[in-house]
Amino acid sequence: MKVVETISDLRSIRKFWQTESVAFVPTMGALHSGHLSLINRAKSIATKVVVSIYVNPLQFGPHEDFTAYPRTKEQDLQLCEENGVDLVFYPDTQELHPEGFGAITHVIPPPHLTNQLCGLSRPGHFTGVATIVLKLFNLVTPDYAVFGEKDAQQLAIIQHMVQDLDIPVIIVPAPTAREFDGLAMSSRNRYLPSDCDRQQARLLSRLLMAVQELYRQGMETTDETLTLAKERVLDESLYPDFQLEYLAAVNDKTFQPVAILEDDSRILVAARIGNVRLIDNTLISEPIRLGAPAPQLTLAN
Ligand code: AMP
Repeated sequence: MKVVETISDLRSIRKFWQTESVAFVPTMGALHSGHLSLINRAKSIATKVVVSIYVNPLQFGPHEDFTAYPRTKEQDLQLCEENGVDLVFYPDTQELHPEGFGAITHVIPPPHLTNQLCGLSRPGHFTGVATIVLKLFNLVTPDYAVFGEKDAQQLAIIQHMVQDLDIPVIIVPAPTAREFDGLAMSSRNRYLPSDCDRQQARLLSRLLMAVQELYRQGMETTDETLTLAKERVLDESLYPDFQLEYLAAVNDKTFQPVAILEDDSRILVAARIGNVRLIDNTLISEPIRLGAPAPQLTLAN
């Protein structure tokens, strides 16, 4: 496995791979089994796999956890090596933005996708995401790029960007990897140290499952269904630190809110447990699998 930190090294290796097919997995590091499932998907569709590891300052707001975001370089590189990655691009901000961010060109995704859900509490977040992802696409020039459904709004925005700007890459969605109890894997889960935090983190997937259950029982009106799901799952006296940011339903293709639930509705949730912000989502008609852990991380030593 090669590890490069500069654009010029990346480009010279990429030049050697003219006849290969390349699948790309952009990440912010602190790799977990969810990332590894994307890497495995990438390996199954291409002859070379490139992973980028870069905590992108552009996508963090001024009061967000950019500085506190976990950085685990040695472990990440070891996991990439063990999972058959061919090339890791590990740039720093000086390399990607030598002039700083003040006057750079931004990619602004369309408002109908950003003025809802995570876009409301994280203004500028998706502009930061789209800008770095386009830049990485231009550097890696992959045939495929694998993105997790875990970040469904991000995935929808990237798919839109690729279509609107005719970027020659195929976006490959990958399913959400979960812990045995349903909690979606996330680099931020390591900031949920206590059992109580962990119980509260489970409320996200429990809310999604409650909506699915009500839908199966025949409820269709979005407002009523989401309200009832919240009543059933959230008990303030039991979960004092849990702050729901949103529980919402969109059409999976248009990513626009729906008043009536249908099989192609996607249910999305975001919440804070203390300082930790978590998100999750599912198609309403696709069961969330409990007790089926993704392959655990194995480290040689
Ligand atoms: P991040 O490092 O959080 O920026 O995520 C990098 C990629 O991994 C994104 O495409 C995420 O959607 C994806 N990802 C993060 N968590 C999971 C998960 N639990 N299951 C599947 N993909 C994930």
